[in-house]
Order: sequence, then structure tokens, then C-alpha cells
Amino acid sequence: MAALTSPQIQSNVRIGLGKVLLVEDEELIRETVALSLADEGFDVCIADNGQKALEMLLGNNAKTAGAIGQSAISDISLVILDLMLPGMNGLDLCRLVRHQGIDVPILILSAKGTETDRVLGLEVGADDYLTKPFGMRELIARCRALLRRCQSQQKADDKSVLRFADISLHIDECRVFLVDKEVSLSPKEFKILELLLSQPKRVWSRNQIIDQVWGYDFMGDNKTVDVHIRWLREKLEENPSRPKYLKTVRGFGYRLG
Ligand code: CA
Repeated sequence: MAALTSPQIQSNVRIGLGKVLLVEDEELIRETVALSLADEGFDVCIADNGQKALEMLLGNNAKTAGAIGQSAISDISLVILDLMLPGMNGLDLCRLVRHQGIDVPILILSAKGTETDRVLGLEVGADDYLTKPFGMRELIARCRALLRRCQSQQKADDKSVLRFADISLHIDECRVFLVDKEVSLSPKEFKILELLLSQPKRVWSRNQIIDQVWGYDFMGDNKTVDVHIRWLREKLEENPSRPKYLKTVRGFGYRLG
């Protein structure tokens, strides 16, 4: 992987811009784009054919997936892809990358500029399409826009999962896992757990839990909370009488951890 790491380029690196893989067989374009990207603070690696690019994405992928033991996430945050390449062309590469489940944003940079070409590029899984000749500022702006879109999607995904120790609660999917085993909860148990997970250190009184989970018009007594906590402990705790997660704070209420 030919990363540009001269001190001059490194001194311009700004935090959080990510690594761009530039796949381009024409040396002049490759060098010009790589330098401009590096100058803007991107970490750049290059491939002059599709096969090499695929290996970089897959190698990367396998390494990262093995390390974190979940769906593959490459440390390449964006691919700029030429279409007319020796050997495997850009469209086939794009197709293969998507087929492997790699969802890195791809910007096609091609001399093929008809509407059909652009539609085809987007249909095989590219996220954006820029026609040569192009302006460098537009290319950089599009790269930034793609990365922004991707990062805000990532943030949205992060917010929809609450975690504490071995417990993870997926808000949108209404599912709870203990390590990787799914735990079946009633809607009220789910709501209580969601509330506790939302602020792990906070102590909640029974009345506060009732207000948040059942609503202000709840007519029952607050022993209901104790009953639901007991059920939750039975489902989540290894030893429900000595809870690790759902702790009683005597005289106040409940707290997580
Ligand atoms: Ca080319």
C-alpha cells in the first residue's frame, strides 16, 4: 500500500478525515489527485488496477473483521474509482466490493460521462459519480460530503444501541442481547431497561420509573416496579438475588451497575 507519508504532507493532516483509496491507472491523474487529497488532510493510499484495489479492501477487511469479531469494517473510509482500468474494470470491482458486503462509500471518477454510464455506476453500488475532466475543488467537496453523510449515518447507528457491560439494547429493533444471546422482554421490562441504560449511573426512584415507563396517569402502586425489576433480574442476572446489573439503592430506588 503506497501511502503518502512525507513530513510535508503529514504536517497538513487534520483529524478525522479518514483514509481514501484512489484507484486510477493514469499516473498523472493519480499523482495529482493523491497530492491534492493529502494536502487537504486525507490519508491516501493508491492502486493502479482493480485487482490490487480489491486485495487492499479485502485484506483490510479480513484483518479488521477478525480483530473485532463482527461485520467487516475496513479502515479505508472512501474509494475514488476510475472505470477504465487494466484487467478488472471499475464497474466489476464495485460490484464485487458490494457483493463482499463492504459498504465503504465509492465515488466513481470516469471519462465515461453519459447518463447511462452514470446510472450504471450508481446501480452497481457507487455513491457518487464525477466525470473527467473534473475540477479538483469539486472532487474534494464531494469526498467531504460523502464522508460526512457516512459519519452521520454511523452516529445514528451508534445512538440506536445502548450498552452496559454484557447488555446491549437495540432501540429501533426492540431487542436485547446478553453478550450475543437474545433475551426476550415484555414491553414494560424493555422500557425500564432502556431507561436505566440511558443514564447508567443515575438512581431512579420508583415514582420516576413509573412516570417514565407507565406515564403520569398510572393508577397502580409502585410495588409494580419492584415486580418488573425482579422479572428483569431473572432474565438478565446470573444470580438474581445478588444482582450485578440491576442494583437496589436502599431508600431511593434502582440503578444500573
Ligand atoms: Ca483509466
